Amino acid sequence: MKVKDIIEVLESWAPLKLQESYDNSGLIVGAPHWETNGVMVALDCLESVVDEAILKGVHLVVTHHPIVFNGLKKFNGSTYVERVIMKAIKHDVALYAIHTNLDNVAWGVNGKIMEVLGISNHVVLSPSQGLLRKFQVYVPVEEADALANAVYAAGGGKISAYEACSFKSIGEGTFKPIEGASPVTGSIGKQESVQEAKLEFIVPVFACQAVERAARGSHPYEVMAYDWIELGNTAAQYGAGALGEFEIPVDFMSFLHQVKSKFGATIKYTKPVNELIKTVAVCGGSGSFLLDAAKRSDADVLITSDFKYHQYFDADNSICILDIGHYESERFTIDLITERLSKKFPKFAVLKTEVNTNPIQYY
Ligand SMILES: [Zn+2]
Repeated sequence: MKVKDIIEVLESWAPLKLQESYDNSGLIVGAPHWETNGVMVALDCLESVVDEAILKGVHLVVTHHPIVFNGLKKFNGSTYVERVIMKAIKHDVALYAIHTNLDNVAWGVNGKIMEVLGISNHVVLSPSQGLLRKFQVYVPVEEADALANAVYAAGGGKISAYEACSFKSIGEGTFKPIEGASPVTGSIGKQESVQEAKLEFIVPVFACQAVERAARGSHPYEVMAYDWIELGNTAAQYGAGALGEFEIPVDFMSFLHQVKSKFGATIKYTKPVNELIKTVAVCGGSGSFLLDAAKRSDADVLITSDFKYHQYFDADNSICILDIGHYESERFTIDLITERLSKKFPKFAVLKTEVNTNPIQYY
């Protein structure tokens, strides 16, 4: 198996364009054409994880957190980041990170937390804006269906839980081929008019290139007439955090106990607002930036991590914050990635690291 085969699966699930601007998701060490006979999945890329991969003969490590966030100027092994990179290169181990792009898909890090909590229906807590474009294309009426199918196959026409969405209007297209043109219909210097369909599709930014290529591939004309339009719509299936409801509300203390035992967490929390917990907001990792969104959504609790002392006051008696620890909140991301890859490649070795990479000890 080539590294790029694994990457293709990961990026069709969590496209790199969904990562935050500060992030460094993607292939960090290695080349797409490298061969590997297995994948090691971990939350953090430590030297001990690379050692484990080497020991088990695996040439690709996929982690949630990228080993490199900032530019490196020297490789003399004076920091753990340099040592990891040096060792990985020396032993032909590719390093790949699937970080905030996996946070920003509905069935990513936060969807997994909801599954662990036993909440089956959830939505994105803070849907992304600026991710959607409209693709309008003009095509002879008889070719419209084939072109629409090509666009769907390339990732266009999906709206929330619906696919193959489009709008078609029929009109008259006009053109006059001039010297240098090789028209499929009509002739040089003669004004033509053809019955054409105008097709409209919503396309996420990460599928724009593929959609345009697919439309061109299926369009009969030498030159395809089309427009891309920026949209202000929010993309319901992409964004930060998740929001869901228990079918049967749980009393606060049992809820706290459940979270503690499921996530193996030492919980810091603010005073509960409601004795019964029904609506739950979650964000794996550092999620204090979602406190306002969680309050606006009328969630009873926000489960996340990395709150600072003064930020707890912002709960302000309108929500209960549960800080369960960064590692603990994301620990099931290892299962999430492993399950996705194993399902796609059932005969391929997808290993979970045996290293506990949590840098924090509890007393
Ligand atoms: Zn994290």
